[in-house]
Amino acid sequence: MSSLRFNAVEEAFKKKALAVCAPSKFTSDYYGKYLFNRATMSKYLSKETLKSLKNVIDKGATLDLAIANNVAAGMKLWATELGATHYTHWFQPLTDGTAEKHDSFIDYDGAPGETIIEDFSGKLLAQQEPDASSFPSGGIRSTFEARGYTAWDPSSPAFIMDDTLVIPTIFISYTGESLDLKAPLLKALGAINKAATAVCQMFDPSVKKVVAYLGWEQEYFLIDEGLFATRPDLLLTGRTLLGHESAKNQQLDDHYFGSVPSRVGAYMKDIEFEAYKYGIPAKTRHNEVAPNQFELAPIFGECNLSVDQNLLMMSIMKRIARRHGFRLLLHEKPFAGINGSGKHNNWSLGTDTGVGLFTPGKTAIENLQFVTFLVNTLMAVYKHNALLKASIMTAQNAHRLGANEAPPAIISAFLGTQLTAILDKLENSTSEEAIILDAKKKLHLGIPNIPEVFLDNTDRNRTSAFAFTGNRFEFRAVGSSANCSSAMATLNAAVADQLTQFKAEVDGKIAAGITKEKAIFDVIKKYIKASKAICFDGNGYSDEWKVEAAKRGLDCETSVPKIIEAYTSASSIELFKTTGVLTEVELHARNEVKWETYIKKIQIEARVLGDLVLNHIIPVATRYQSVLLDNIFKTKAVFSAEKAEKISALNMATVEEISEHVSIIKNTVNELVEARKKANVIEHEKDKANAYHDLVLPHFDIIRYHVDKLELIVDDEMWTLPKYRELLFIR
Ligand code: ADP
Ligand code: MG
Repeated sequence: MSSLRFNAVEEAFKKKALAVCAPSKFTSDYYGKYLFNRATMSKYLSKETLKSLKNVIDKGATLDLAIANNVAAGMKLWATELGATHYTHWFQPLTDGTAEKHDSFIDYDGAPGETIIEDFSGKLLAQQEPDASSFPSGGIRSTFEARGYTAWDPSSPAFIMDDTLVIPTIFISYTGESLDLKAPLLKALGAINKAATAVCQMFDPSVKKVVAYLGWEQEYFLIDEGLFATRPDLLLTGRTLLGHESAKNQQLDDHYFGSVPSRVGAYMKDIEFEAYKYGIPAKTRHNEVAPNQFELAPIFGECNLSVDQNLLMMSIMKRIARRHGFRLLLHEKPFAGINGSGKHNNWSLGTDTGVGLFTPGKTAIENLQFVTFLVNTLMAVYKHNALLKASIMTAQNAHRLGANEAPPAIISAFLGTQLTAILDKLENSTSEEAIILDAKKKLHLGIPNIPEVFLDNTDRNRTSAFAFTGNRFEFRAVGSSANCSSAMATLNAAVADQLTQFKAEVDGKIAAGITKEKAIFDVIKKYIKASKAICFDGNGYSDEWKVEAAKRGLDCETSVPKIIEAYTSASSIELFKTTGVLTEVELHARNEVKWETYIKKIQIEARVLGDLVLNHIIPVATRYQSVLLDNIFKTKAVFSAEKAEKISALNMATVEEISEHVSIIKNTVNELVEARKKANVIEHEKDKANAYHDLVLPHFDIIRYHVDKLELIVDDEMWTLPKYRELLFIR
């Protein structure tokens, strides 16, 4: 009998919800307590320093050392008062996590001696040089010249975690190439600001700045810690490589939005209280579709800030899960057969004059601006659909995309019936008509005040990777464990580039003597036609869509290593170059890292799978076989041969069945090992990654199929690995 599994089940059942108390009745009392935000700055910085720093943050002024010194002094005082003794730069290497290296504030007061002081200078705040040779760089920085620098991002406030002052930074190489995900994001946000502001000024010259917003929705699973510990696959890969689906899983839709289980409820409160201390505006919490799957969503914010908040939130969620006897699973597909986890990225643009550029307006001119941004976004997504898919694709996310659930491995945009009708109408009208309409009705092209109902768009297509949802687009293909930066840098860069091209085309027409309105209309109409292929309101899960999407020329590739190649296509290189987001060298380097990561992930999974099969599955199956054989033997001893054969028929069949499964499993594991050996000697990362995808991965499903069959046959008491029903329904 497998005591480990049953003990874990028993212990898990005994666990009760922790009592969790709010730090204060009013959230506003402690909101942002651990954040060096503007309110705190005004208490700890001189008026002059604060003014200079605001100039740096809001207007992109360069930071001089004198200001940095003053900011550092104020920060140190604030942090020390809150118990911090250390500081760290916090950066986002190409691993999708965050990295930090803590240093204490102490230093000698002069020459090495007895007295120490707490010191934190502007230089230490602004820049550090972590020996970062073991972070992936894709060959940009070889280990013998391992210098990498972190540099302070003043637009994202520093915070305190435990006893440490944490400073958000970018991470670059000695030669200036980005080695992280934040630097390109900041560049893309700069590009969209510039391009969108220029377009806005065609409608309203008073617009000086456009901000990209992000509101993420974090999906996650919680699994009892004891059960988690007895699953080597969960422990080492974050997902179950084996396990027959539970008889009941999500068929009844009884988990989605259902009442939150008490242990989980306590956890949710706890992470929210913690989030508020860091100024993360956690807003929504609910059960998700799959059993033991949940979601947390904050109020949206400025994109760079929101990305940092998400990274911080993921680490808070991980840490606090342990306090409640849970393990947090952020893997995109921890369990086969039920929903995986995503991180919908709600994205929009807004002006410094308070206008949401994807919010339908009240006046004709506002609506023309709205349609301009909408259509340019569609155009950008159409042109770069393969790249956008690459921006969210990983070994983990591949289990979620393209499988029979949201969203498919094809990027398409959903607009809803009303918006589609408006674009159709626009497309089919003549410009002259538009102008006449304009003159007569003071309305452009019969896009009058958009009906109210449109604002809370009731169309809710859950199968689209990129859906318009009333005042924003929702990029749903992003994975739950991802750093949103990759997706956001790509999307913002693509739209920025598109807006610049739009402006140039319109300007060209105006220069040729066409009126501004007509020029804008003409270009919009052209784009509506040109980008049609990306718009799809039907069922994205259907097989017909796959055929149709291929006909439309959309990227339908499903192999991760090949999808990633879109980063270095001619159009992507050009896009990132003109927007200044990433150079060709950086793009190639990043792909090396992506292929390498892909290989390692599959490699680890393959090893774990092999171990599990040889150490857990086959021994148990064989032991059960012996029990059956023993029974058959004894039956023969007691009964007549004829009767014994009759009684033992079922057991004999099971013995045979087990043998068949075991022998297929053994052979496939051997083939898997051979395939890995072959792949491992391939020199180039790209080819190796392709080999891992084409030759290694296919064995996983075969092995799993037969192991899961064994799980149904073998005596439950002997089975060592907690089953899906235990992992998913004990909470
Ligand atoms: P749903 O699950 O219905 O899509 P949620 O309430 O779970 O919606 O999440 C919606 C997310 O979108 C929230 O983070 C919300 O703050 C964000 N959001 C709302 N409006 C905008 C906007 N204009 N721009 C960006 N994000 C937005
Ligand atoms: Mg959503």
